[in-house]
Amino acid sequence: MRIDVADLKKSPGESIEVELSSHLPDLEFQGEKLSFDGPARVFAEISNTGRALIVKGKVTGALKVLCGRCLEPFSLPLEVQLSEVYYPADDEDFPAVDPSAEEAQEWIPFTGNVLDITPEVLKSILLEMPMRFLCREECRGLCSFCGQNLNRATCTCEREEIDPRLSVLKEIFKN
Ligand SMILES: [Zn+2]
Ligand SMILES: [Zn+2]
Repeated sequence: MRIDVADLKKSPGESIEVELSSHLPDLEFQGEKLSFDGPARVFAEISNTGRALIVKGKVTGALKVLCGRCLEPFSLPLEVQLSEVYYPADDEDFPAVDPSAEEAQEWIPFTGNVLDITPEVLKSILLEMPMRFLCREECRGLCSFCGQNLNRATCTCEREEIDPRLSVLKEIFKN
């Protein structure tokens, strides 16, 4: 996701709005590679503060994932905030960033007239990934006996009661 900032770099105090759409590379998450379902989009405002370029906006898109309960593939919608500061490392119109300053740890250097925000877009998505994927909140999962997807049909397995108090009673009757 590349943004031409040639004009903006010459205009301190100015800002531009951009709308980008592009196919992103697979995302590495918990040891697995997840593919995007279609292009990801970025809506952002980029401001030239005279010292750096601030990018603020939002990323939307979708990932192809498997439901953690019923194991069916589904498209997980994404919407995350993007907030980064970039500074031109090779431009004499911008004051050099002191490497010992706090901002040197957080600001991202770039060279030339094109800002490639792809690594930060991927990072922002990773930071907001859910702990587990659910195709829907009320997904009924798979029968633990026959493996039937209970969202699609019920099975004839006799289901054990989940209530632990009842299982205690059962143990008593067994003895
Ligand atoms: Zn599911
Ligand atoms: Zn079953």
